[in-house]
Amino acid sequence: MKRELRRVETGLAIIGAGLAGFAASIFALRRGLDTAQLGHTGAIAYTTGYFDLLGVMDGRVLDEPWAGLDALREAEPAHPFARLGNDEIREAFEIFTDAISDMGIAYSKPGDHNLSALLPSGVAKPTLSVPATMLPGVEAFRTGAKTLIVDFPGLQGFSATEFKVNFAASWPALSVCRIEFPGFEGQQLYPEVLARSLEAPHGREPLAEKIRAVLDGAEYVGLPAVLGMHAPDEVHADMERRIGARLFEIPTIPPAVPGIRLREMFERELPRRGLVLVPQLKVSRSELGADGAVHHLQGPLEDLEISARATLLATGRFLSGGLYADQAGLRETLLGLPVVQPSGRDNWYRRDYLDPRGHQLNRAGLETDAQFRPLDAAGAPVNPRLFAAGAVLAHQDWVRQRCGAGLAIAAAYGAVKAAAEMLNGSA
Ligand SMILES: Cc1cc2nc3c(=O)[nH]c(=O)nc-3n(C[C@H](O)[C@H](O)[C@H](O)COP(=O)(O)OP(=O)(O)OC[C@H]3O[C@@H](n4cnc5c(N)ncnc54)[C@H](O)[C@@H]3O)c2cc1C
Repeated sequence: MKRELRRVETGLAIIGAGLAGFAASIFALRRGLDTAQLGHTGAIAYTTGYFDLLGVMDGRVLDEPWAGLDALREAEPAHPFARLGNDEIREAFEIFTDAISDMGIAYSKPGDHNLSALLPSGVAKPTLSVPATMLPGVEAFRTGAKTLIVDFPGLQGFSATEFKVNFAASWPALSVCRIEFPGFEGQQLYPEVLARSLEAPHGREPLAEKIRAVLDGAEYVGLPAVLGMHAPDEVHADMERRIGARLFEIPTIPPAVPGIRLREMFERELPRRGLVLVPQLKVSRSELGADGAVHHLQGPLEDLEISARATLLATGRFLSGGLYADQAGLRETLLGLPVVQPSGRDNWYRRDYLDPRGHQLNRAGLETDAQFRPLDAAGAPVNPRLFAAGAVLAHQDWVRQRCGAGLAIAAAYGAVKAAAEMLNGSA
């Protein structure tokens, strides 16, 4: 059968369906840009749902991320955060979290201080903004409130007892309970399936009844993150009412519900707001020219050719396929862009895995100018219509610095601003 060829023309093509790609789409639509996002499923399902700005510097946990950014610009002038001021990064965070809240998943307002958010292993991590379904957990931990943590037999990677044991010194008022998840007794459990089962109100009362029975005066109840997929705030409020205590979710190990929720919401809501979204497909080849780029994708039934006057690359690192490593070194997979990298494989890693200085490989990536345009070996923009954002950028170590979402959001904001100025002829 002959394959059809579909051609699409757009102003800005965003390649990548991670946080940077979706943030870029939000910023681009807000600027009124004609936008298409081409994204293969990636690391978004791995996130906790927390949006970190800057949690750690020089091995020190930061309470004040904005002051941390000021210090980071001094210490690491090549860091992508150094391309933007705090006012711009704050605006980017606020626009992004407001947009997500408007689309259907409420997030806490980014403030002046980091929050101590809960992880399933019973430790807290510094982050700036959390889903509303998780915010009561931050409060419960901060105040040391009498809290019941519930887990379910058959759910891998979440143990209420481990959570309690690791928090024993800092949160003595924790108690734990293991209950069978109604309707799934004796089965291996998957968070995504449990979350979808709680979408329907009739799925909620049997669970709420079991929790009520073991509450024993707890002011708060913590559950693994399974409170619905499409309307978590509604499920959360309804379960809170049924249980009669403040309720919060704790992220589970990946792939986890909070990231899947975000991805499904973006895929549902952004096309309604004008985005041309081509999900679940990889761009197999791109040609850059003086007037823009042409991106080629192969769908199950048709081929696609997207012509764009500007392109924003947000393809992530190794896990998502934006960067690739082999015996010869590191390369950028789609356009063959130069990758800033250690001088040889022997320098990728330090001898000690936990070396506080981190590993050089983790700071490899694309070099850009102040407009987030990837640079060639001579230091000139590869193409004036090409921009990049997110984890694919060099000179950052988002895992160690606890700045994954912050980097994605801030760089997407900066890259879209520069692309809009170029497209509108004001750059
Ligand atoms: C286990 C884990 C836990 C995390 N926890 C947190 C956390 O608690 N807080 C936090 O702030 N951040 C967290 N992060 C980081 C965060 O999820 C993102 O990884 C980070 O923000 C980078 O986003 P990105 O969009 O740049 O890249 P990615 O999320 O990696 O997305 C890149 C996208 O590009 C797509 N792609 C690649 N090549 C192509 C192509 N040729 N054509 C089309 N699409 C392509 C990929 O499929 C993917 O969709 C976590 C990440 C992981 C892996």
